[in-house]
Amino acid sequence: VACRTAATQQLRGKRVFIMPTPARRQYLDIKSQFPDALLMYQVGDFYEFFDADAHAASQALHIALTSRAYGPDEQVPLAGIPVHALETYAGRLVAQGFKVAICEQVEPPGKGLVRRAVTRVLTPGTLVEPGLLPAARDNYLVALAFGRGHQSGQVGLAFVEASTGAFACTAWPAATGPDAVHGELLRLRPAEALVGDQRTTSAFEAQSSVVLSDLVGTVTRCPAHYFDSGSSYLRLCRHFETANLGAFGCENLPLAYAAAGAILAYLERMQPTLLRLISGLTTYHSSDFVHVDARTWNALEIVEPSRSSTSKATLLSTVDATRTAMGARLLRRTLMQPLTDLQMLESRLDAVAALHNDSGLRQHLASLLDGMPDLERLAARVSQGTAQPRDLFILAAALSRLQSARAILANCLTEPLLSATVMLDPCAEFVLLIESALTTPDSADGRMIRSGHNRDLDTIVDSIAASRRWIADLERVERERTGIKSLHVTYNKVFGYAIDVTRANLGRVPGNYERRQTLASGERYVTTELREHEARVFEGEERIGALERQLYQSLLERLGGFYKRMRATAAALAQLDVWLALAEAALVHGYVRPQLTHAHELHIQAGRHPVVEATLDGGTFMPNDTQLGDTRAPGTEDSAPADILLLTGPNMAGKSTYLRQVAQIVVLAQVGSFVPADAASIGLVDRIFARVGADDDLARGVSTFMREMTETAYILRHATAQSLIVLDEVGRGTSTHDGLAIAQAVIEYLHDAVRARTLFATHFHELAEVAEELPNVHVAAMQVHEQAGQIVFLHRLAPGKATRSYGVQVARMAGLPHKVTARATQLLATADNSHTNTDQAPDRASRTAMRESHPSSKVIRDSGGCLEYIVPAVPALSESARDLIMGVVSLNVAGMTPIEAINVLYRLRERATTLLQSRND
Ligand code: ATP
Repeated sequence: VACRTAATQQLRGKRVFIMPTPARRQYLDIKSQFPDALLMYQVGDFYEFFDADAHAASQALHIALTSRAYGPDEQVPLAGIPVHALETYAGRLVAQGFKVAICEQVEPPGKGLVRRAVTRVLTPGTLVEPGLLPAARDNYLVALAFGRGHQSGQVGLAFVEASTGAFACTAWPAATGPDAVHGELLRLRPAEALVGDQRTTSAFEAQSSVVLSDLVGTVTRCPAHYFDSGSSYLRLCRHFETANLGAFGCENLPLAYAAAGAILAYLERMQPTLLRLISGLTTYHSSDFVHVDARTWNALEIVEPSRSSTSKATLLSTVDATRTAMGARLLRRTLMQPLTDLQMLESRLDAVAALHNDSGLRQHLASLLDGMPDLERLAARVSQGTAQPRDLFILAAALSRLQSARAILANCLTEPLLSATVMLDPCAEFVLLIESALTTPDSADGRMIRSGHNRDLDTIVDSIAASRRWIADLERVERERTGIKSLHVTYNKVFGYAIDVTRANLGRVPGNYERRQTLASGERYVTTELREHEARVFEGEERIGALERQLYQSLLERLGGFYKRMRATAAALAQLDVWLALAEAALVHGYVRPQLTHAHELHIQAGRHPVVEATLDGGTFMPNDTQLGDTRAPGTEDSAPADILLLTGPNMAGKSTYLRQVAQIVVLAQVGSFVPADAASIGLVDRIFARVGADDDLARGVSTFMREMTETAYILRHATAQSLIVLDEVGRGTSTHDGLAIAQAVIEYLHDAVRARTLFATHFHELAEVAEELPNVHVAAMQVHEQAGQIVFLHRLAPGKATRSYGVQVARMAGLPHKVTARATQLLATADNSHTNTDQAPDRASRTAMRESHPSSKVIRDSGGCLEYIVPAVPALSESARDLIMGVVSLNVAGMTPIEAINVLYRLRERATTLLQSRND
């Protein structure tokens, strides 16, 4: 069908079928196997695109669109790129979301049609070409398996990093909900995600597919059978040559291995050579790490600035002093995976501390890491058989440096460093193999394989050496023999070797010269002997080339056997690089080692925001303390400990900065880094929730307020007493009255039911009054200094509440026209004086009443996490009060006209007033 359709042409106004030529048929056959990819089809020194692919490629790459004739009747659209530019152009296509199938000539051109085959399909998640990959971040291919039937709601996820062979899987039970899965996708930021092509059956899947399109470069739908858990199980066992999956920890996680199996199936189809890199599968559990949802990652700006941020600075960019690409990738992964295991964290901190305290050790390690190539990805290229001789020499040179470095570093006896150092394997046999087999890439004789490495090769090289010498001597010999001083022996690709004689000397040309070509300045000749020697050299060179390629491939295969050792070495180098970077960041920015505990505490003395501090232009950052939890911070015996800090303060005073600062300090501590503070004692947290700044999601039909409430609900449902919660401005997206009521209810719930360490920033200064009555809440404010209508932000946290927002002053500073700010000031003054605002916040008495009507001791938490109260018994009411209440309860509000409603309201007010008066009397 493909042949016929593509070969259909408009001829003289009629639609006719044309029998494709054999060459065209070959193309169409191959193309029909890769309908969803652009086919790059090798024709000699070019890769060509035909038909619709030619149109797409010419548009995407800005290359000329022409056409080619196939037979007398068929003109086919054509666009082409030179073979040597493959990587650049293919990379540009993949970056634009295309899949690219590379079809190569798989035999030397001869008589008849050259055999061709697709050797690989480039997709965003399967790239391994160094030039196409970002050096400092992993390029993940992810597969998501959604449970069906009795597994409904469960999800399995697997990922592979094709350029390094890292392969892992995990699964979530149905109760976890989508946010954990989305958080994991945000952590991985996959270049490509595989999902089944069957119809979406659950709201979870539908929601996930929206999230996927946000967080993933390309979503690829695969046949449902890729995800079949039974076939996946067998596929994985076959690949790893094991009887079961017990050794990989996922034997009882069908959705995890279904996703892992889908990845194998996809690679088998797209790039089978990548399968060689996959030598193991790791199963991980999200409970091993601090749980952080997608929203929190975004708000905390750990490795990427938040969507609303104008600055590109992140926690990663601030502490990233790594020297190698492997280290940079590991640091990124580390920051996105804070740990909950105290012992592991102490071990990491020991390593950072050892480097922090020993400048000699830092220097030794730095000189080892400086200029260290990307061993991890280079080793993978060797294993895949795509490494070039230059890559091998880079690897050999890098490995040779390890021997001496290991000896020096082994002198430092701190345990984690020592273990990593021991893992540095110089792979001496690997280096020896390269050095004994290959000539250096810049060697003068142009050979790839060193003489002495293979006897057959040496014999051919020797056999043509005499002819080469004969040709090299020919010019001198013929000049002497003929007496023609200007005689030249030349070489070109078309005619091969020849003897050029100028016109003036044509009379002295010997009889054995055969004329080949007339030149502008004379004639070109060959001799029978020259042709024989030339043929011997050409033939020999061809055999040498073929033999060298074969020897090189078998060398790569032998070198591939070192892959595991080199991968372990690369991992150890990356780890040392990360520890050194964290130690150096600590020195440069003045961080200290945190005290980690299992206590319910969070004490930070003079903490700073690591990113804002580093980016403040010339200004100095104002440090602030944090004291949360059951225990008292040293030196604060006079103040009671509290779980919640309610933070008030004007706009621009530094509230959000402070909230993020505390969360970032906790993240740094729980990845094993020093922290920006004078001292810190941190009880490990199990989850971090951050809502800082409000984005709406109108594209998905979610308003700012709806989103704010959904996220708050998520936090209240999932936070535990071990969590850290950072909430900025709950209730701002609605009217003041509603917002304040919601904010108060949320604080009370956090205080009474959740008991997590919480920072709660608000512009509702009235809330502070309520909070002052809650025993487990501290109220603090960001200080400002006001003088002559001007405000100076001190960015200093002090106990007590703020009284004003200074919104108009901040608006003035932001450049709002004077007319607008003057009018706003006037309106503010009027409102302050008259209190006529109908949407006015409730006063202190009614807020306290609101709380008292729902005493905190009566709060219960249902399974869904909703706020529920057991309302105390209503005290005895007088007859007339009960009548009044019954009158209100029995009103048919929906059935009233506005006028009737107003009349009823008047009547009710009258009765209530009378009632009040009679009570007062
Ligand atoms: P808003 O209520 O308007 O959102 P905010 O109180 O959350 O404001 P931030 O956005 O945290 O204020 O801070 C405003 C600016 O003040 C920051 O961009 C930063 O440059 C500066 N800043 C904040 N905290 C400090 C500090 N401790 N030391 C020095 N500068 C600070």
